[in-house]
Amino acid sequence: MSAETGPEDCLFCKIVSGDIDADVVHETATTVAFRDRNPQAPTHVLVIPRSHYANAADLAVGEPETAAHLFDAARAIAEQEGLGEGYRLVFNTGAAAHQTVFHAHMHVLGGRAMTWPPG
Ligand code: 5GP
Ligand code: ZN
Repeated sequence: MSAETGPEDCLFCKIVSGDIDADVVHETATTVAFRDRNPQAPTHVLVIPRSHYANAADLAVGEPETAAHLFDAARAIAEQEGLGEGYRLVFNTGAAAHQTVFHAHMHVLGGRAMTWPPG
């Protein structure tokens, strides 16, 4: 999948529309959150806007309220997943930063101790 992928052939748009199954753990009018299929921590949830934006920067410009909703969804997910010890929010932005799906998404990672730098 390339950075030029549009909504019509976007994997995460298909999760929003229900055309592709996902283990959805949280939903709002503007966001959907589902478990990552290749989890990197005991809790690894992706929170995405319902609208298609290629990355978090484009989302922040196009729908700043929805960008804020991602953080509130992360707060709710951390609570429901029992991540009181702490959790990590990640936006890989651009291929060099390991973005592989070009529909904006926030990784919510928790349930284990984290290290730094992230690699
Ligand atoms: P990125 O590398 O773009 O920041 O993160 C994309 C994430 O999407 C990866 O962690 C990958 O495991 C996850 N992913 C890719 N395809 C699917 C899918 O079809 N279903 C789910 N649940 N996760 C996916
Ligand atoms: Zn999309």
